[in-house]
Amino acid sequence: MTDALGSTKAVLFDLDGTLYRLAPMRRRMLLELLRWGAVHPLAFPGLMGRLREFRTAREGLRDFARDDQSLDEVQYEVPASRLGISPDELRGLVQEWMFERPLPFLARAAWPGLREILVGLRSTGRPLGVFSDYDPDRKLEALGVRDLFDVTLAATDAEVNRFKPHPLGFIVGAERLGVDPCDVLYVGDRAEVDGAGATAAGMASVIITGRVGEDPRSRRIDGLAGLSGLFFAP
Ligand SMILES: [Mg+2]
Repeated sequence: MTDALGSTKAVLFDLDGTLYRLAPMRRRMLLELLRWGAVHPLAFPGLMGRLREFRTAREGLRDFARDDQSLDEVQYEVPASRLGISPDELRGLVQEWMFERPLPFLARAAWPGLREILVGLRSTGRPLGVFSDYDPDRKLEALGVRDLFDVTLAATDAEVNRFKPHPLGFIVGAERLGVDPCDVLYVGDRAEVDGAGATAAGMASVIITGRVGEDPRSRRIDGLAGLSGLFFAP
């Protein structure tokens, strides 16, 4: 057995769409929203509009790179002022619908063999980390794999304070893993944020199912199981 990625000393993962599949989770959460809407028909359009505004504002904050403001607060303040509600009210809705309610459905949306794949990677002696735009810890617990990661990091952590594709979170992740960024492989599902950020930080990347950018150190796999093929090539 050869190791096709022999220079990789650690592996850093994106979470959403990378450790679990987005399509079944989106279907499941749409069902939850519609069920809620059937009971609260008057409030339903408002809820959908607020969640949509939050997502749009976050995408618009991808080039945010300031140290004098907290990204964790700005991500609520910007859409809340557009919506004419308080940042705390929006934070409560997002907390409920994007963090709490999806948790029970995560394990079923996990890529098949998730735990075995991660255990296999660890068995090669490489530490594993997660760097996500969202706080990863509770999702990793819900997926039953929190114990397999040496490092977990969110874009809104004070030390990063920048969304992907800014390279800072990738660099902090490498530091915490105790290796040079150029020796880290980043695994994500979006070339424009995961692949671009990894490249800017000097990391090689693997993009699951998505298109791959121009970077010659970036490659594509069709599912998380494809990762084992890179480390344990026949
Ligand atoms: Mg993702």
